[in-house]
Amino acid sequence: MNPRLLLSAALLALSPVAGWTGGLGDPSAASPTAGGAGVERCGTSSPTAADAVHVAAALGRWRQERNEAPTGGTIQVAVHVITDGVEGRVTDRQIEDQIRVLNQGFSATGFRFELATIDRTDDPIWFRISPGSIKEKRAKQALAIDPAHRLNLYLCAPAHDQLGWATLPYVSTEEDPMHGVVVHYGTLPGGFISGFDRGRTAVHEVGHYLGLFHAFPFGSKAPGDGVEDARSEASAALGRSTGRNRPDPGEDPIRNYMGYGDDASVTEFTAGQVARMTEAVAVYRPSLLGAAPRAAGREVAPEDAASPNDQTKAIEFRGAFPNPFHSETAIRFSVPHSQRVALRVYTLTGQLARTLIDAHLPAGSHSALLSSGDLPSGMYVLVLRVGQAQMTRSVILVR
Ligand SMILES: [Zn+2]
Repeated sequence: MNPRLLLSAALLALSPVAGWTGGLGDPSAASPTAGGAGVERCGTSSPTAADAVHVAAALGRWRQERNEAPTGGTIQVAVHVITDGVEGRVTDRQIEDQIRVLNQGFSATGFRFELATIDRTDDPIWFRISPGSIKEKRAKQALAIDPAHRLNLYLCAPAHDQLGWATLPYVSTEEDPMHGVVVHYGTLPGGFISGFDRGRTAVHEVGHYLGLFHAFPFGSKAPGDGVEDARSEASAALGRSTGRNRPDPGEDPIRNYMGYGDDASVTEFTAGQVARMTEAVAVYRPSLLGAAPRAAGREVAPEDAASPNDQTKAIEFRGAFPNPFHSETAIRFSVPHSQRVALRVYTLTGQLARTLIDAHLPAGSHSALLSSGDLPSGMYVLVLRVGQAQMTRSVILVR
């Protein structure tokens, strides 16, 4: 049967939500129904108020400590096509078009996307995954490729006709296979979901993946989305509603990729959102940038992408193992020349927790032990400085 007919039949039973009043930390409240199509626009969980405050503090600290703002970089995309054997068989051409739409959407942000791999799996169970489900976990554990260094993009037909969802960058360590973006295959450019057929659902979800919240996560209440120049509104901009538009671009969430406008309406990220994404990636997902197109595993300095500096080319920062850890974890790295090396551990709010190394080290492989001592449970940021280069990894302490 024509999938559009199936979807339309399902939509008849749904009544669109006209005004959405989001609740803190309630994932179900983060899924308003898009007025135009009746589909579930987005299943990405809203942050808890505590998370929002923590993240804002960590990014603020990061900003204060640096003279130059981070500028984005190139992200390799591993695409996983899941079908039920019949439905969901998108073409390579559609995937290439989706990557093009991502690059158009992020053209002013400093981020670029390159298609690294496509794999295809026939599995009627995984084809209908939903956010937070055991099915999602199993599918991602089986299919994810090098999640620290690649954006894993899953194409399927989520349960309840949800259009997509993403993991926020701070929720777990970079290597966690749950990191990634899921979108309904019908939202790809030329897809069959009316109003959401230009590939901009993926732009919205990648916005989450790089650290953006919805433009209106707290309804009319502060603190908005944590980004100063995105307007919070009491209700989501649902579907196309030109009556809500104001003359100035950048003023109205209906045009914002992180609102709930349909694909024809959304065209922009604000400058504040761009800054937030680059900072969030620098703090929480630094390994995403500068990865070699296909060779998985080797970690090189993000600076490589911008400068052909011999000194940074052979620095490898492997991070902590085990991770998460209980009492002790080993942090490994190697340097190409004898030089000054500092390895420090920071809390998520940017406070120095430990200095593990601050010395001249010879060329070669090194490791340092991090003991839990009196540190509280939680995520920490490891910062390795080698000469002028700096790399970060995250580690989680579980008591
Ligand atoms: Zn969303």
